[in-house]
Amino acid sequence: MYPAEFDYHAPTALADALHLLQGHDGTVKVLAGGQSLLPLMKLRLADASTLVDIGRIAELRGIREDGDAVVIGATTTYRDILDSAVVGRRVPLLVDTVRQIGDMQVRSRGTIGGSLAHADPGGDLPATILAVDAQMTAAGSGGTRTIAARDFFTGMLTTSLNEGEVLTSVRLPALDQARTGSAYLKHRHPASGYAVVGVAAIVRLAADGTCQEARVGVTGAGSQAMRAGGVESALQGKALDDATLADAASHAAEGLDLLSDPYASAEFRGHLAQVLTRRALAAAVARARGGPGA
Ligand SMILES: Cc1cc2nc3c(=O)[nH]c(=O)nc-3n(C[C@H](O)[C@H](O)[C@H](O)COP(=O)(O)OP(=O)(O)OC[C@H]3O[C@@H](n4cnc5c(N)ncnc54)[C@H](O)[C@@H]3O)c2cc1C
Repeated sequence: MYPAEFDYHAPTALADALHLLQGHDGTVKVLAGGQSLLPLMKLRLADASTLVDIGRIAELRGIREDGDAVVIGATTTYRDILDSAVVGRRVPLLVDTVRQIGDMQVRSRGTIGGSLAHADPGGDLPATILAVDAQMTAAGSGGTRTIAARDFFTGMLTTSLNEGEVLTSVRLPALDQARTGSAYLKHRHPASGYAVVGVAAIVRLAADGTCQEARVGVTGAGSQAMRAGGVESALQGKALDDATLADAASHAAEGLDLLSDPYASAEFRGHLAQVLTRRALAAAVARARGGPGA
C-alpha cells in the first residue's frame, strides 16, 4: 500500500528540525531509519502530514567515549554499533543485543534512537537500555533534558518524550569492569524476528565470587520492557550456583502485564521470561568469571 501524502523536510541542523517539529499544523513526525514508521504509514496505521527526516543532521550520529560511559547519537545505525570497536570493548551487551535485531537491511537503516522512541513491546534494545541504566538526552523547544531509562518507557509504543521533542543521544555506562559479565538472549518470533521475549542480564561479582550486583531487563513479555527487580534482589550477596540462578529467575515475570497473541500465550511468555532469565544470568556469570566470551 501507499501512505497518504505528506510533506517532507530533511534539515541538516537540529535547531531547524526542532523548529519544523514545532511550527507545523497537523501531524508532524520525526523520520529516522523509517524501518518502523514507514511500514505503519503504508498500512495506514500511522499518519503524518509532515515528516522531518533527521538523518542528515551530523551532530545526531556517531559514537564517542565519555569517561566511564559511551555516548551514542540517536541516528547511529545498528550497523554503526556493530562496527564500533569502542562499543564492542566497553558495552559488549549492546553488541550482543544488536546483532540479534532484524536482518542486514534493517540493521543498515534502523537507528538506536528510532528503536527507543518507537518503544515496540517486542523491540530488543529496551531490555538492554534498562539493564545498563542508560540515560537518554532529548531536545525540544524548552531546551535539553536527560531521562533515565527507568522513566523512559511508559507503556506500549509510548515513551516519556514530549510532543516535538527529539531524542538526541543515549549514554550507556561502560561494562568493562573487573568481574563483570553480561548477556542478551531472546526467543525470536519466527516470522518477524522481534523478541517474543528478550532478556538482558548484567552480573558483577564481589571479590569472593558472590553477587555484588545483578541487573536484568525483560522485553517482549509485557506491554513495555521492565527491570526484573525480584530477580535482582534474589541474587544480591548470594553464591551464584545453578539453584540460586533458577530460584532468582522464577521471579522474572513478576509485575509484568503479560501479552498474549496467537503465537505466544501469556503463560508461555511468562515461562520464556523465566527460562531466558536463568540462561542469560548463567551466561553473564560465566563471562564475569572470565569464561567463554568474557
Ligand atoms: C523486517 C523488520 C524486522 C525487524 N526486526 C526487529 C527485531 O528483531 N528487533 C527489533 O528490536 N526491531 C526490529 N525491527 C524494527 C527496527 O529495529 C526499527 O529500526 C526500529 O524499531 C525503528 O528505528 P528507525 O530508525 O527505523 O525509526 P523510524 O521507523 O524512523 O521511527 C520510529 C518511530 O520513532 C520516532 N523517532 C525516530 N527517531 C526519533 C528520535 N531521534 N527522536 C524522537 N522520535 C524519533 C518516529 O517518529 C517514529 O514514530 C524490525 C523492522 C523490520 C522492518
